[in-house]
Amino acid sequence: MTCTLVILGASGDLTKRLLLPGIGSLLEREPERELRIVGSDRAEMSDDQFGDLLVSSLTAGGAPEAVARRIADDAAYVCADATSAEEVRQVLEGAARCSLGFRTGGARRTQPQPGDGVGHLVLYFALPPAVTEKVCRTLQEVDVPEGLQLAMEKPFGRDEESARALNELVATLVPEQQVHRVDHFLGKSTVLDLIALRFSNRLFQAVWSAEHIESIEIAYDESLALESRAGYYDHAGALRDMIQSHLLQVMALVTMEPPARITDRDLRDATAAVLRATRLWQQSPVAASKRARYTAGQVGDRAVPAYVDEDGVDPGRETETLAQVTVEVANPRWAGVPITLRSGKALGETHKHVVITFADVRHLPEGLSGADTKDRLVIGLSPDVMELRITTNGTSDPFALEQSVFSTTLREAELEAYGEVLAGILDANPMLTVRGDAAEECWRICDEVLAAWAGDEVPMEEYPAGSPVPRSWGAALN
Ligand code: NDP
Repeated sequence: MTCTLVILGASGDLTKRLLLPGIGSLLEREPERELRIVGSDRAEMSDDQFGDLLVSSLTAGGAPEAVARRIADDAAYVCADATSAEEVRQVLEGAARCSLGFRTGGARRTQPQPGDGVGHLVLYFALPPAVTEKVCRTLQEVDVPEGLQLAMEKPFGRDEESARALNELVATLVPEQQVHRVDHFLGKSTVLDLIALRFSNRLFQAVWSAEHIESIEIAYDESLALESRAGYYDHAGALRDMIQSHLLQVMALVTMEPPARITDRDLRDATAAVLRATRLWQQSPVAASKRARYTAGQVGDRAVPAYVDEDGVDPGRETETLAQVTVEVANPRWAGVPITLRSGKALGETHKHVVITFADVRHLPEGLSGADTKDRLVIGLSPDVMELRITTNGTSDPFALEQSVFSTTLREAELEAYGEVLAGILDANPMLTVRGDAAEECWRICDEVLAAWAGDEVPMEEYPAGSPVPRSWGAALN
């Protein structure tokens, strides 16, 4: 089926760096895929200039040159203010005709061609979040085409209340089934591997509960510092940027009940249910959270200035560059297991993983001893490795226990994470995108922490750029 993808914000950073390369990786795997792209932005651009942007970004993602050219030749660009009802109506009408086999303005081909099929239309909001919200209001004045799919970028709302209001607004436009809230972590290959790992291995299925698991850590510690993204990051911080969205989605896959089928309904029912059951550890934002920001330091061979001295940073905003939140999934399977979510920038050790730490054996036979006999399963989120760290006999003294590590590199995914998520969106399948209720729950979990931080109830700690996560934070593999 032909899909027409309308990108609002077509000359923006996301479109160029992530969205089009993601589609490029999809076209590398599926060069025959029928796709028409209509770009729209308020910047003036000719069809040819847009075509050049498409070719360079699609090939950067892996699309064969000839395929990228075919897509570019068939694409159109419309200069429009997406918050104007009249202009957005024209964009949609043109694209809807296009999805029936007609071309929009500036077209090289104006009649349906043999093989043109009736397809569906995806409207992708690659716009700043405040503009996306305005465009949704504008769309209420427009007769949106039947079956229109909406793809919405993160952040979805600023807190639980605004996410709910945005959900209500979006629900006036199209049914929930046609809304795709993008979280590219849901397309990461190792995140998807969690499904196979948990539900097709008796070995793990049998021990996946508080009965056998002592704690879980989901971390995404980066060595990258601000990298000129102060305009965005200084308003977001590590908690909103990573934990509120990506890491809670990963947690939901790690802790959900087994779905009977892998369908969008079953999978998203299961993840939404655990997010609903999630609360802060000890039900206290002070006990459950930590925040810090980096001071000047050295990351590898790069000298990094203190966060507060980076261009565009307002120190008064008190933005954290390292955040940790511990939660509990308060249900029969998980009650009592601390689940720690952590992400930060400019760190010297870049742990990007899920660590499952198993409980001690009930009785260790006397005569056996060892420093650390904790068994752990480590699922790397980047690079894509998996390690099982288990207790074995010591090398010199067979009764002094040691850890042995069984390690494997997981298959390389054909698609970039964005490409995987986009494949679903272009096929009108929302399975790998976030459902409205889950988006609200993720904010609910974080709102209390954000309020405590705004009230200075949790101290802002410091760490030199290039150092590991502070030891007192208790990282699983420190
Ligand atoms: P940009 O500001 O780079 O791009 C947005 C584009 O939308 C710009 O070209 C902008 O034009 C255009 N635009 C703004 N207002 C209008 C309007 N009224 N009508 C038509 N076009 C308009 O943002 P990003 O590309 O960085 O981000 C887009 C979305 O993706 C955001 O929600 C962001 O949070 C999300 N995101 C971005 C990531 C990234 O790495 N960039 C990563 C993950 C998510 P102009 O330049 O004239 O303002």
